[in-house]
Amino acid sequence: MKILVIGSGGREHALVWKLAQSPHATHLWCAPGNAGIAQERLAQNGVAVECLNLGAEDLPQLLAFAQDRKVDLTVVGPDNPLALGIVDLFQRHGLKIWGVNQKAAQFESSKVFSQKFMEKYGIPTAAAGMFDDVSAAKRFCASLDGKCVVKADGLALGKGVLICTNQTEAERAVDDIMVGKTFGPAGARVVIQEFLEGMEISLHALCDGVTARIFPTSQDHKRALDGDLGLNTGGMGTYSPTPFLTEAQLADTAREILDPFLRGCAEEGIDYRGILYPGLMLTKSGPKVLEFNARFGDPETQVYLTRLENDLVELLVASAEGTLAAMELRWSSSASVCVVMASGGYPGSYPKGQVITGLEAANALPRTKVFHAGTAAKAGQIVTNGGRVLGVTAWGRDLKNAQAAAYAAVAAVHFEGAHFRRDIAAKAQVT
Ligand code: AMP
Repeated sequence: MKILVIGSGGREHALVWKLAQSPHATHLWCAPGNAGIAQERLAQNGVAVECLNLGAEDLPQLLAFAQDRKVDLTVVGPDNPLALGIVDLFQRHGLKIWGVNQKAAQFESSKVFSQKFMEKYGIPTAAAGMFDDVSAAKRFCASLDGKCVVKADGLALGKGVLICTNQTEAERAVDDIMVGKTFGPAGARVVIQEFLEGMEISLHALCDGVTARIFPTSQDHKRALDGDLGLNTGGMGTYSPTPFLTEAQLADTAREILDPFLRGCAEEGIDYRGILYPGLMLTKSGPKVLEFNARFGDPETQVYLTRLENDLVELLVASAEGTLAAMELRWSSSASVCVVMASGGYPGSYPKGQVITGLEAANALPRTKVFHAGTAAKAGQIVTNGGRVLGVTAWGRDLKNAQAAAYAAVAAVHFEGAHFRRDIAAKAQVT
């Protein structure tokens, strides 16, 4: 099969790496990809993965490429092309593509849509109100004593969420989002949720419109600094599994969330084929959904795909074709840890073009894979080209082993100003 992967981050490198292991993959392109993706080769025939000079949001060019090269399967990584309707476009032209369609992408592109859906179909979530009026929004914050989370409705690069501890902060948050338009038009409407306390984890489920297959649990580390301090980032590291839900609790949680989700989709005429990725708070009164994402998490993908034993091509085809009921997901019993190495200054401004050394040494370590995110090739060297640069991933018989292996690999890699957290997986108390 000829496969095209869309995107350029660590998630896409992990997808490419796993797809390249499939005997079904005979040719693989990535648009636009990165320097690590360009080094991958297909297991079946040794052919190199090719990166294309095509943007992930350039829908007409991506379509033209897929038609010209007769691509058999397109795999979409990031949320933006999904929200722009790339799946609908490709399907209209008779091309097989994996990812959610535009209607289904609303679960991520509109927090108001998701909140209304969760309330209508009884999915456990935070108590919330939805507003397009500033005074009404502030009154609702007051009813929560200002202990609330104010969220811009639309896509805001993962930044449109303000956590407030009192009414003054809450009013400022409402003003910033709705009046000051800090996050642009995404803030025309807001969802205001009660502040929930608990341990936060990520869930993923692969869906085919009718069937959903739950993944093991994982946990992201959103803040830039150790101890969950500092600014919010795209994610500084992950691990899987987490010790916070037993198998039985995970099965219960899947039932409480996925059953009403699929029932609601059927009633609303939403054909959900792709990944459903709920952010979950494990509260004293049970797990509650904070938000839905409609694609693989980054860096959750890196830990999941290093544990997945199935052929990913077969799984994604089953998800796109609606035949997932016949398949079971198989996971290795190993644990996996991904430590993100970021550019100095990230998530603020940071330099680009720093030379990265030690990648070969790190990749030569056992059970280790360095996934590239913001990297580029320049004059025969690999240089930094983004905020999150690498997702250094390792697996082992338990979290403690995986964590030690991941940090051993991190120690082998160098670039000027490299910043990473030293406590990835520490919440699982493995140190
Ligand atoms: P979201 O993009 O909606 O997942 O929100 C981003 C982050 O804000 C989450 O990962 C949580 O850490 C935090 N958050 C969101 N909603 C809530 C809530 N209702 N209570 C506490 N924290 C929240």
